[in-house]
Amino acid sequence: MSTTIAAIGTALSNSGISIIRISGKDSLNIVNKIFNSKAKLEPNHIIFGKIINNNEVLDNVLVSYFKAPHSYTGEDVCEINCHGGNEITKEILELVLENGAILAQPGEFSKRAFLNGKMDLSQAEAVINLINAKTRTESRIAAKNLEGDLSKKVRSLREELVELMAQIEVSVDYPEYDYEEIEPKAILSLLDRKIDEIDRIINTYEHGKYIKNGVNVAILGKPNVGKSSLLNNLANYEKAIVTDIPGTTRDIVEETINLGNIILNISDTAGIRDTDDIIEKIGVEKSLKILEEMDLVLYLINGEDGISKEDFEILSKIENKGLKYITVINKMDLTQKSILDTILKELKQSNLKEPVCISVEENKGIDNLKKEIIKMFDSNDLDYSNELIITNERHKDLLKKSVNYLKDAKTEIFNGQPIDIVSIYVKKATKTLGEIIGADVTEDIISKIFEKFCLGK
Ligand code: GDP
Repeated sequence: MSTTIAAIGTALSNSGISIIRISGKDSLNIVNKIFNSKAKLEPNHIIFGKIINNNEVLDNVLVSYFKAPHSYTGEDVCEINCHGGNEITKEILELVLENGAILAQPGEFSKRAFLNGKMDLSQAEAVINLINAKTRTESRIAAKNLEGDLSKKVRSLREELVELMAQIEVSVDYPEYDYEEIEPKAILSLLDRKIDEIDRIINTYEHGKYIKNGVNVAILGKPNVGKSSLLNNLANYEKAIVTDIPGTTRDIVEETINLGNIILNISDTAGIRDTDDIIEKIGVEKSLKILEEMDLVLYLINGEDGISKEDFEILSKIENKGLKYITVINKMDLTQKSILDTILKELKQSNLKEPVCISVEENKGIDNLKKEIIKMFDSNDLDYSNELIITNERHKDLLKKSVNYLKDAKTEIFNGQPIDIVSIYVKKATKTLGEIIGADVTEDIISKIFEKFCLGK
């Protein structure tokens, strides 16, 4: 890391200010060559001055200087706050590069921060999550993990497991000494407690995933039941084509909608039905296939017509696949009471869920539908502000792997194996947990993680 890197840290658009960030041992040198001011640059001070190139003033700027190791990257860092024009920002960056810095790779500042021990890997990943967050909840979770909530938990789990390994080792290596020998029963109970603790964090991933990626929702139902109309209503604008000719939603239209704390990624699909129409068929096949990737299916029935054999077939398929779904009866404004009663009776007889009744036309029942969705995905027993929640697949996978090692350790005890064999699995679990915070990771994994960063971070 002997090079000095530079990049624009803000988005390139015409704005009040832009920031050019420079990190490395030559930062101060480089800036001093192009910066003219009355005051000298000192650590943790912001100095007003001018950027000069060949005696020509390019811009009036503010420059801050952070001396290693007290900076974001842990190296000497200078930040030039210039005016936020595209041209001037690029020109100052070019000048910095001409004077000895090299252009930073995406995420390179954060990678250096990690390599210099300013933050661990899970904190660095929280930085990306914070930048990419699409809801407040997501931001808060990322901020908490940036503060080190996940790191602290992982570290304390590791310490306890290391302590257990030490006790095992002492019992095995120095049985003649008067150490209190650890009983298999005590090991089992500790393992059980740790497995429970880790499982609880893993379980937050289901919700964490919804918070981060949104809930994938498909609106399904026969042609003309009002799928596009519902999508438009939820999205508040006319995106899908609404017509009264059956089968006009040819392709899958996608929409992202904020619903309280959660994001819905809604696809409106071509109606499912038997049809000879080729274009329709492609849509129908797609509809069935995307079911597999869905977190929620809204299955629409036209209340005016009642429920058909095909509706039952598809609803049963959804139910049998174990998918989360809501049956929605639309066009309640045109629905006769006797037909509604029949639908309700038939759904009940087939052990299908009670439907939510709406009329998109009259904008009725939509709030109930939204509440139902929120109830399903915005878990009440998860306290976003106080609980450790993970949103990152890598963390979930590593936690799962470590739980499995701890379970293997338990199996060895049950099989009556000597406790030093047990220790092998505890060690593996500890090492796996270490990968979350970057204690035992390869250069390969590190590069992959930081590649996802934006330039200048
Ligand atoms: P899709 O084929 O399932 O996407 O159905 P559309 O959303 O294109 O709707 C088909 C027709 O039904 C359009 O003329 C809509 O205006 C109409 N429609 C949708 N919802 C309602 C409703 O709740 N009541 C009534 N009366 N008409 C509706």
